[in-house]
Amino acid sequence: MGNDELLPFVQITTFQPDKVVDITAVSKNNLYTHLAQYLPLDNVFVAVKISGCFDKLKIRRPFVQQKPYPSVVKVFEQQVVDTVEDVSGTLIGFWTPEFFKELSVAGFHLHFIDTTRKLGGHVIDFMASKTELAFERKQAVEIVLPEDEEYLRKNLKMDDLNNVIKQVEN
Ligand SMILES: [Zn+2]
Repeated sequence: MGNDELLPFVQITTFQPDKVVDITAVSKNNLYTHLAQYLPLDNVFVAVKISGCFDKLKIRRPFVQQKPYPSVVKVFEQQVVDTVEDVSGTLIGFWTPEFFKELSVAGFHLHFIDTTRKLGGHVIDFMASKTELAFERKQAVEIVLPEDEEYLRKNLKMDDLNNVIKQVEN
């Protein structure tokens, strides 16, 4: 990405895997079990990368938003959901421990991009019979907040926010 490109929210990291392993029969539901074989992950952040051919993927993509910006619930309702089969590509994302759920989405938050770089999105569900799993434990987190007036003066109501996040991410 160029230095002048803007995103409302981003989670980034460097990635030097602690371990790379071949895994079979992995899905969103059992990814925790797979990863927990190699490291205790209940109390740490983990950066995850899964590459290979996916038997099934359910992904969603929001549309581009213009000012005045719609609420995240509106964006959520109008997004495109795709279910695709036998697609090669990479899942990347983070594992966030439950007790950090107010800082990020607890559990796995994964995004997909296919090998042609044409299809991608937020992963709702996935299944793969044979893939490569790479992961790196993350011991530190840095949060950078927006500096603009609009953000500084925004009245962020925690209860509303929690409801919205629950609705959108689960
Ligand atoms: Zn996402």
